[in-house]
Amino acid sequence: MSKRKVHKTEEEWRRELSPEEFQVCRLGGTEPAFSGDYGMTLKEGVYHCVACGNELFDAKAKFDSGTGWPSFFEPIRPDAVTYERDTSHGMDRIEVRCGVCDSHLGHVFEDGPEPTGKRYCINSVCLEHD
Ligand code: FE
Repeated sequence: MSKRKVHKTEEEWRRELSPEEFQVCRLGGTEPAFSGDYGMTLKEGVYHCVACGNELFDAKAKFDSGTGWPSFFEPIRPDAVTYERDTSHGMDRIEVRCGVCDSHLGHVFEDGPEPTGKRYCINSVCLEHD
């Protein structure tokens, strides 16, 4: 069953989120590597969307990619996130968005570890650990 989607105006998001969260989640920015709280930690639990609370990733799927961004080999459920092709900045990438509020989270690459071979490279500022 699909979840109820969250729809807010960009002005509402701007009021509710910190400037850094707004810049990344709603404007598709990227935080500097090694700047966030969750780049290195492997503490167990669940990572939620900072904008809407949607469960996104289980810490069991987190690994140290060495990139300075939190990295996961799969989302907590297939429909937790959605995908968009992103051809900005002269690259051809797959953007990862929150499945409920459509916030930008990061990108997914094909150079991850087993069992999926995927690397979800996610901005720390978009996540909240429970
Ligand atoms: Fe969300």
